[in-house]
Amino acid sequence: MRGGCESRYDRAMSIRQLPETVINQIAAGEVIERPASVVKELVENAVDAGARRIDIATSGGGLTLIRVSDDGGGIPAHELALAVARHCTSKLSGAIDDIRSLGFRGEALPSIGSVARLLLRSRTAEAADGAEIRIEGGAVGKVRPAATNTGTTVEVRDLFYATPARLKFMKGERAEGTAIADVVRRIAIAFPEIRFTLSGPDRLPLEFAATRDRLKRIAQAMGEEFPQNAVALDAAREGVRLTGHASLPSYSRANALQQYVYVNGRPIRDRLVAAAIRGAYADALARDRHAVVALFLELDPALVDVNVHPAKAEVRFRDPGLVRGLIIGAIREALAAAGVRPATSGAAAMLGAFRGGGSPYAHAIPAGGHRGFNPGHRAAPVSYDMLRSPYRPLTPGFGEQAEAPFDGGGARGDAAPAVAETDKRPLGTPRAQVHENYIIAQTRDSLVIVDQHAAHERLVYEALKAANEARPAPTQMLLLPEIVDMPQDDAERLAAHAETLQRFGLVLERFGPAGIRVAGTPAMLGEIDVARLLADLADEIAEQDTAETLRQRLDAIASRMACHGSVRSGRRLRAEEMDALLRQMEATPGSGTCNHGRPTFIELKLADIERLFGRR
Ligand code: ADP
Ligand code: MG
Repeated sequence: MRGGCESRYDRAMSIRQLPETVINQIAAGEVIERPASVVKELVENAVDAGARRIDIATSGGGLTLIRVSDDGGGIPAHELALAVARHCTSKLSGAIDDIRSLGFRGEALPSIGSVARLLLRSRTAEAADGAEIRIEGGAVGKVRPAATNTGTTVEVRDLFYATPARLKFMKGERAEGTAIADVVRRIAIAFPEIRFTLSGPDRLPLEFAATRDRLKRIAQAMGEEFPQNAVALDAAREGVRLTGHASLPSYSRANALQQYVYVNGRPIRDRLVAAAIRGAYADALARDRHAVVALFLELDPALVDVNVHPAKAEVRFRDPGLVRGLIIGAIREALAAAGVRPATSGAAAMLGAFRGGGSPYAHAIPAGGHRGFNPGHRAAPVSYDMLRSPYRPLTPGFGEQAEAPFDGGGARGDAAPAVAETDKRPLGTPRAQVHENYIIAQTRDSLVIVDQHAAHERLVYEALKAANEARPAPTQMLLLPEIVDMPQDDAERLAAHAETLQRFGLVLERFGPAGIRVAGTPAMLGEIDVARLLADLADEIAEQDTAETLRQRLDAIASRMACHGSVRSGRRLRAEEMDALLRQMEATPGSGTCNHGRPTFIELKLADIERLFGRR
């Protein structure tokens, strides 16, 4: 050490340029995070090459093999060596802010080649023969002739074999395989006219036939039900255009994975956009629910920077406020036009109904009805008819006041109105139940109408959720334990989480190398398909490896159960039951909307009612 001073800094080496392979491996650290990143880069290259058809094959979750073949323009033999060299690209000639291709950094192939064994084989339409080049752990081979069709095939084997530290971070074949499918889906949505296939021994094959119709591709990739449960968007502001589809609140998910966003055809993940989507649904969705969307933003490439991160998935907008406003405005408007509105504006709409003749709810029920929408819930929360028809008297013991019909308020004018203690509560005193589903309650200054089915659903959900969190969920022990066969690694994963699962009421243990013996199931699930539940759980654990996910999953199950299990619609409630329901709602956070984001109650202020009758 210099001067006898102890220092961690020991300048044993002089400054020098890093070897090319190390440079590429450093770049790979950012560009190639996991097998799905390789698929993303290779498929993007095929798209940029003008392919009409892209076939992707994987095995071992992409860690063993990824092969992407396309019928695009191909690479001339004399350029193959350049294609795998760093910072060599055919896509960018001039300014970086006029990027129209998906790639532009010239980094993907050399990065992949530095951490795996890569084979690039290609032929242009003009060439009589094809050629190929290999690069393994950074070592570039010679260009050799190869028989092949027009187009390009890239084969990547043994990903990360040259960087074992990165290999250790992989989540397991199944999770990586799932991530690959998501990447393919994400890109496929942006290019409906290209046919995509994804296959391999590690997965069920995927095929997206070429189509001119973007909506058809969306349905292929996101499920046929999505367009049926979504509103179409088309809005523009100051040179930015937004098209696509956004789900009805009733069609929501427990995570944001099903949000597909594109900027000028490039799939992106952007916090600003994610926040805008959340904002658009703020009134319509519970916080733990996420919309399903396919959003396409189109704007002058100069107004968005795509060169923020090597993976090119992040962007920076020149005017973030504009984009945010456009997204929120467009989604909200489309939802409103479809009749989705928060509780408060629902009350306002109802006022309108009283005032004018026409019902504003007429448009709230789309022709034919949306799936997931129960028109019976929304059709006519209150109407003159309902006020006129003799309401159902409450069961005895609830007090005489209840016997008085709604008659304009004069009937009880005699006695000083005995203000029930409960009138002071937010949801007030239940006075009647109408149409076997709506509880009419009064507070000191308003009339409250509760949708008892929706409310009950939410309460059941919250209770189940709370139970999930607080204490072990009760187990229904099975008369005969069920033995479920499954892949060994699934069985291992489940067994490793046995303790957590038991907290949720699922009692299981390993049974042989590839089996699980289930002794009890969560009582709240009732009769269930045990094998299916285990498969789902194993998938989830493979992907996330956390108990938190299991909780969310059970929450989601709870939500679905609550929905199916809420039998209270159409049931006549006794006064005490109504009262109990309202009090429970008051005590339960989040009970203002049902699990699908619809309001569970609406409130009309007395002042508004008086206005309706021209008293003010
Ligand atoms: P970038 O896509 O940013 O240009 P890459 O490393 O991904 O960088 O690719 C380098 C070059 O190799 C591309 O610019 C392109 O000319 C060529 N190339 C790569 N894949 C293909 C393909 N599937 N078809 C035709 N050319 C390709
Ligand atoms: Mg590329």
